[in-house]
Amino acid sequence: MTAAGETGAEDRYEVVVVKYGTRATRRSDVFLNHHLYGEPDGPFTVDYHLWVVRSRTHTVLVDTGFARGPADARGRTLLIDPAEAYRRVGVDTARPHPVVVTHAHYDHIGNLGLFPTSPVVVSATELDFWATPLAGKPLIGHFTERDELETLARIARDGRARPFFGSCEVAPGVVVTEVGGHTPGQSMVTVPTSEGVVLLTSDAVHFREELVRDMPFVSVTDLPAMYRGLQTVRDLRASGAVDRVVTGHDAAELEGLEPWSPDLEGIAGVIGRLPS
Ligand SMILES: [Zn+2]
Repeated sequence: MTAAGETGAEDRYEVVVVKYGTRATRRSDVFLNHHLYGEPDGPFTVDYHLWVVRSRTHTVLVDTGFARGPADARGRTLLIDPAEAYRRVGVDTARPHPVVVTHAHYDHIGNLGLFPTSPVVVSATELDFWATPLAGKPLIGHFTERDELETLARIARDGRARPFFGSCEVAPGVVVTEVGGHTPGQSMVTVPTSEGVVLLTSDAVHFREELVRDMPFVSVTDLPAMYRGLQTVRDLRASGAVDRVVTGHDAAELEGLEPWSPDLEGIAGVIGRLPS
């Protein structure tokens, strides 16, 4: 028998935030047309995250991080290999857990090969766009890797992709929604947890400052859509539909989170940990 207060507890999730990479850069390298703000440049840290969303009955992976080769080539620092991170937070990559691809940049799809049996949930707009000639333009394809886009296309050809339009529910209560902007089909994920509804913005919002000060990220395929996406996130937060916003790359994202385990302090934090 379930007590009234526990109704729906089986549809509550924990969110494990994994900071798997980092880089030190400059503000002018991350904020679009930074010079137009009339502010001094300065150092800026970009962290790289992937997310594990898990209830008693469902596991959903949100993005898979970058692979070592492209990361080395781009001067990014790998803090923990995503394969190792999955193992240490208890994800069996051989099982067909759904993988959400929020967008097709190298730091989000670099390890799809770790999940050979998983359905891959991705916006149809995103999936289709990266198969067009525009994907090869330097200002559009800069953050993609050709072989990784081919892997995504092959997954679609093999029938493992789950393309959606608008939004879709990937597990009970876990909803993926396309907002565009950063890429044509950039998507976000909402997750019900014991600490309220968590919004994983991925790169609809890279940094908290981007959201608070309405400063778009340097890489964008549709600037009005990016501004609208930022407003959507602020509206969701203001209306109470979302209790907590977790961004794609903010260096403070793990602050205040309980470490997943003592040995992963500074690498993996948990929101709404499930009772053991
Ligand atoms: Zn990213």
